[in-house]
Amino acid sequence: MTQKKQLQGRFQDQQNTQWLIVSDLDGTLLDHFTYSHSDADAALKLLENSGIPVILNSSKTRDEMLALRKSFDNRHPFIVENGSAIFIPRGYFPHKPDAAREAGDYWVLEPGAQRTQLLEFLARDQQQHPAAYLNFHAATTDEIVSATGLTTAEAQQAQTRGYSEPLLWQGNELQKQAFIARANAAGFATLQGGRFLHLLGQTDKGLAIQLLKKTYQQYSGRPCSLVASGDGPNDLDMLKVAEIAIIVRSPAHKPPTLSGHPRLIVTRNLGPLGWAEAIREIFPQIFASTPTEG
Ligand SMILES: [Mg+2]
Repeated sequence: MTQKKQLQGRFQDQQNTQWLIVSDLDGTLLDHFTYSHSDADAALKLLENSGIPVILNSSKTRDEMLALRKSFDNRHPFIVENGSAIFIPRGYFPHKPDAAREAGDYWVLEPGAQRTQLLEFLARDQQQHPAAYLNFHAATTDEIVSATGLTTAEAQQAQTRGYSEPLLWQGNELQKQAFIARANAAGFATLQGGRFLHLLGQTDKGLAIQLLKKTYQQYSGRPCSLVASGDGPNDLDMLKVAEIAIIVRSPAHKPPTLSGHPRLIVTRNLGPLGWAEAIREIFPQIFASTPTEG
């Protein structure tokens, strides 16, 4: 209860603050098993009506995010491939941010690296160190399917990444650590996922949302505060930089450890239901006229 009072107090103290909510997708806004977001829909609608943007921030690609964003009826900027690029709908801010590139209907900020840079590094590296991994760029879709167990559609999506390269590691741990050190020395980062070692630029979900937050502040002239929500280790970077952090409980793994955060909520419920529970706790005002569930 004390925590709840503190959170409400913080919100009421900062009526001038523009709140931004940044959220992971799989296991957070999307159910771990069904990929449904229906348990979060009512809260999402109330946030939208209250002028609190929800920014989707995931390891997914632009095309995957476009489809999901549509299913959420979300019109706000979104962040792809673990902080690699921020897509801002053209005209969302009064002017294009200076550092942004124009791409179709979007202004794009790219704190990460282009995939071509990653492929160039891999080609250079392979001249001296035989590849101890399956290179998705060089492999056919069928080869990826048989090596990974991904579906054909998933394999195709993995091949159409813009800012990161998944590597199916086939060598030993020593070779992997040596590869990671060479990638870091060349100005790139790696991220160990459940199945793949991802090569990407030196960015993360936290760095990207901080850049977007600065952009909001620049145009609104108001201080912005962040609520960040996620369920996995690759969400910790954005949870750390948020004023309020939400760790959404997962049916698949224990909540990641985030020590020393001044405002941390670990949800009781799983996935999108847990997410909605935390949003209700942080912004009780916007739920004032709707009945309490459970
Ligand atoms: Mg997740």
